[in-house]
Amino acid sequence: MSEAESPSVLAATHEVINQVPPLAGHNLYAGDTALREAVQHNGGHWAEDDLQRYGEVCGRPEMIERGYNANEFKPIFESHDRSGNRIDLVRYHPSYHQLMQLALSEGLHSAPWTDPGPGAHVVRAAKYYLHSQLEAGHGCPITMTFASVPSIRLNPQLADEWLPKITARGYDSSNRPYTEKSALTIGMGMTEKQGGSDVRANTSTATPMGDGTYELVGHKWFMSAPMCDAFLMLAQAPGGLSCFLVPRWRPDGSKNPLQVQRLKKKAGNVSNASSEVEMRGALGWLIGEEGRGVNAIIEMVATTRFDCMIGSSSGQRQAVVQAIYHASQRSTFGNILIDQPLMQNVLADLQLEVEGSVAMTMRIARALDHLDREHEQMLMRLGTAVGKYWICKRTPHHAYEAMECLGGNGIIENFITARLYRDAPINAIWEGSGNIQALDVLRAIAKAPAVITHWFDELEQSKGTDLRYDRALVRLKNEFSNRDEIEYRARHLVDQLALTMQAHLLVQGGNSAVAEAFIASRLNTVGAHNTGCLPTGVDVTTLIERGNPLAV
Ligand SMILES: Cc1cc2nc3c(=O)[nH]c(=O)nc-3n(C[C@H](O)[C@H](O)[C@H](O)COP(=O)(O)OP(=O)(O)OC[C@H]3O[C@@H](n4cnc5c(N)ncnc54)[C@H](O)[C@@H]3O)c2cc1C
Repeated sequence: MSEAESPSVLAATHEVINQVPPLAGHNLYAGDTALREAVQHNGGHWAEDDLQRYGEVCGRPEMIERGYNANEFKPIFESHDRSGNRIDLVRYHPSYHQLMQLALSEGLHSAPWTDPGPGAHVVRAAKYYLHSQLEAGHGCPITMTFASVPSIRLNPQLADEWLPKITARGYDSSNRPYTEKSALTIGMGMTEKQGGSDVRANTSTATPMGDGTYELVGHKWFMSAPMCDAFLMLAQAPGGLSCFLVPRWRPDGSKNPLQVQRLKKKAGNVSNASSEVEMRGALGWLIGEEGRGVNAIIEMVATTRFDCMIGSSSGQRQAVVQAIYHASQRSTFGNILIDQPLMQNVLADLQLEVEGSVAMTMRIARALDHLDREHEQMLMRLGTAVGKYWICKRTPHHAYEAMECLGGNGIIENFITARLYRDAPINAIWEGSGNIQALDVLRAIAKAPAVITHWFDELEQSKGTDLRYDRALVRLKNEFSNRDEIEYRARHLVDQLALTMQAHLLVQGGNSAVAEAFIASRLNTVGAHNTGCLPTGVDVTTLIERGNPLAV
């Protein structure tokens, strides 16, 4: 055999060039100018060192690997053990547990409850935003645990027993009674087959047992993270729809008959198990009053909606990180992508979206830190609905455009962009889908007109800085003074509430290039257009630099 025909020579078909190595080992916080500025601006400056530390943790290669593993090795459900005993066990890849452990040890589920004060929500939001860039699915039980606290407080006896363990900075994934654990997680079951948005259509029943407990019979069509230690659930009690805390195990150590039927096969959010369950006489404790279940659980829902804002902003950020990083290394037609004008327009537009999302999320975090002030309370009431609607709804298309920046690689599963895309619609759909948020905005205004007055008061702060902004404000006020077919127009109204608020916050944020680009492209244009249609004159260099994860 001649040398030219030897197998090793034949196998060497080509040299791999112009492929971009994975991004790892960078500091997610240090490389995020928009986030750092928003944290400073909204009262989180005291946590700068901690955020720098956590930004480094979240950029470590082994952490990134855990995000991939938790999605590649999907949760598996086992109804019974090998002897036939009912166990309702979900098995996860160890990486999922490691991510849970990290999130809980950092207090992402509890810090503002255990250590409240100025900036507490802002800092927790910033950390969660960094953390979620590793993996979004396990955030579901983190968020639900966090959000359960205000609802559980409505029952002081339960609060005394459960909250110290719910807010503890630990993780115990073992399948055993809550009484034996020092750290607990909480889920929720509202959605039933016949209705998710319209929870008043719930048919599950709760019968008082005469000893202060209730017995729940019925089903839940979506109950995510079924390994949580207890769930806030709605069921029809004699006094009407009521809220209950339903543990997986009874206080006597026996299994509560809350039986998982199967896990959903979801298109995204696959690291997070979402189950269908039946309550076959499950023990539950009343939260709040009978017949006021929606009021009790709404405390939880408001917080989960806020976390949807954090989660989707975080997804947008990670998408931009990947798009800009890729474009800074990949050549086409003899030039680096990031230097090519049309790609610059796309990248800058993607970053501009993140700027608006971060500004709004952090502003609402600040409102949460100051709920003793009426203005902040009103801003929070409308802001969670407007922000959840807008940011979550913008994310799927944003994820797709970022994915396209990577070309074909973008949709391949060992590039995170594919996962970001699959996960992107989840936050928009759960916890009140788009229309429900838009209608909630109208409901909030009808119930307490002060919410819109305070919203406009906030927007007035930037009046006079830009004529295009002032005009948008006038248009918005006119739209609200017209009550004709207001439900039909609700999405359009909420779009405008979101855009003007983001513009205002970016004006206040103090970077004139960002504010100018936002107003020029979001407030001053008519009709539909795609990402990457920023008008000429926009300072794309500044925007791309702000989005570049390696530009510190
Ligand atoms: C990944 C994932 C995890 C989930 N986890 C949980 C969980 O842990 N616990 C839980 O309880 N639920 C969970 N859900 C369920 C979720 O909250 C519901 O799917 C959601 O609230 C919508 O309810 P539905 O599916 O019944 O749709 P429907 O209520 O039937 O709504 C269908 C569509 O109609 C729209 N709509 C409804 N009413 C109106 C109206 N009056 N006017 C105009 N449009 C309207 C909605 O916006 C929606 O787009 C989860 C969902 C997903 C995707």
